[in-house]
Amino acid sequence: MKNILNSEDVNEFKRLLDKHERIVLTCHMRPDGDAIGSTLGLYHLLKSLGKEVNVVIPDRIPRSLSFLPGAKEIVVHTQYDPYCSRLVNEAGLIIMCDFNTAKRQGDLAPLISGAACDKILIDHHREPDIECNVMFSYPEMSSACELTFRVIAAAGFYSAVNLESATCLLTGIITDTQNFTVNCNNPEIYEIMMRLLDKGVDKKRIVDEALKSTSFDALRLNSFALLERLTIFERSRCALIVLSKEDLEQFKYQKGDTEGLVNMPLNIRGIVYSVFMREDSDCIKVSTRSKFDFPVCDICKDLFNGGGHLMAAGGEFYGTLEQCREVFLEHMQDYDKHLPARLDKLELR
Ligand code: 5GP
Ligand code: MN
Repeated sequence: MKNILNSEDVNEFKRLLDKHERIVLTCHMRPDGDAIGSTLGLYHLLKSLGKEVNVVIPDRIPRSLSFLPGAKEIVVHTQYDPYCSRLVNEAGLIIMCDFNTAKRQGDLAPLISGAACDKILIDHHREPDIECNVMFSYPEMSSACELTFRVIAAAGFYSAVNLESATCLLTGIITDTQNFTVNCNNPEIYEIMMRLLDKGVDKKRIVDEALKSTSFDALRLNSFALLERLTIFERSRCALIVLSKEDLEQFKYQKGDTEGLVNMPLNIRGIVYSVFMREDSDCIKVSTRSKFDFPVCDICKDLFNGGGHLMAAGGEFYGTLEQCREVFLEHMQDYDKHLPARLDKLELR
């Protein structure tokens, strides 16, 4: 595996770990496998190095990640605000994983941004704007977990990676690559997987727990969404799914139940991108995915206060579900210029 990291950054990473005993690890709100995998992966490593470590996150983890070792030790800001404040204020070092801007931490943002301690960022989103002493920002990486592994290896800690840490790191790589189906052309990620499997990780269990563990209601909700709430826009090669609060309630929606839904329409031959709008309690959550380098991150940035990666991005809209839909439909054609010149026939039947 090539060492592509800046050696000064790696040395500074090691120096800060040496210097500080109390370390807080944190990630973005509505955490996914990569956010939790990278923070918990570091948590187990740093604990084995004798550090006093805590994972402090904005809101609860989805049920599909509760199998991860250390999940129960995570301190959730929406549940234990004063305790989070104490941990953050007592920390000498904060390591931030899998986000590029403070806004992604929601109500936890002021606490983390305001902390005067040393900070390290490990992230794979574009255009990071976070103040820190050391920034590992590599948008070409499949996942924050891949990057975390590379940082750990470059710092000489591979031998200290235990089964728990390896399990968490491989989980983030698996969830962000959808079990090695997207962002997985770099041969080195298979070497990283091999190094993690060498630690005894049960890959099948990760796939079963993190990607294939739905409830009956959730399965029905997703089926309903595809059958009744999916619209195809032929000229723009776009698929749009819109789920209202009533739709969600009908299937007793729980956090994480629609994870992966936005990917489904991309299976239709000829569809270039997919947009999913979900009416949450505080905003409309927008999720987007694409193929052929179609820049859905621009759509999220321009219309939905968000961003992310070129072909997997998200955002939030403040207004009604109908307004959110209208804003998108009004601007959809603006993005037609990014469609590939040669398109497959759209297979509708
Ligand atoms: P998802 O659709 O799974 O929620 O997110 C896809 C990608 O977009 C992830 O890499 C995530 O970090 C990013 N993303 C999701 N929601 C937001 C958001 O509200 N703001 C920004 N800046 N990025 C987001
Ligand atoms: Mn990620």
